[in-house]
Amino acid sequence: MTPWIAATIAAYALLCAVSPFGKCRRCKGKGHRKTVVRKRPRPCRRCKTTGLRRRYGRSLYVWTKKTYRPLLDEKRRARAGSAA
Ligand SMILES: [Zn+2]
Repeated sequence: MTPWIAATIAAYALLCAVSPFGKCRRCKGKGHRKTVVRKRPRPCRRCKTTGLRRRYGRSLYVWTKKTYRPLLDEKRRARAGSAA
């Protein structure tokens, strides 16, 4: 069972690396949706008319980078400072 879970996670990570954006679920990738009453096309506010949404895996990667990059940079700078 465990190898299947690992394989699934690896496949999803690969998918996020190859294609970090998916179709917007609200407008189905069109960038606009029709209003309920008059069926007029209106820009999609969820994706700001791009028709794209960031995948969860990509969001996780961006969050991790944003959170831990300053700490890693600090460590690297300290190491470079002590070597020189
Ligand atoms: Zn949309």
